[in-house]
Amino acid sequence: MDTYLVTCSACGAENRIPAEMEGKRGRCGSCRAPLPPLFRRPQQLSERSFDAFLADYPGPVLAEFWAPW
Ligand SMILES: [Zn+2]
Repeated sequence: MDTYLVTCSACGAENRIPAEMEGKRGRCGSCRAPLPPLFRRPQQLSERSFDAFLADYPGPVLAEFWAPW
């Protein structure tokens, strides 16, 4: 099973998160503080979903814009 590590910003503990929990919020196993969702793969957003994603995501976001023309 693939896992990835999320560092808790409150206590610094590393939390091992199963890959199938990608994009979901969790809690630190050490201090129970909320953990930000992480994405291992790029997310394709649309004009409709972009603003809501940015407003809800607590961390930095790297955006690549493109258009068919
Ligand atoms: Zn913590």
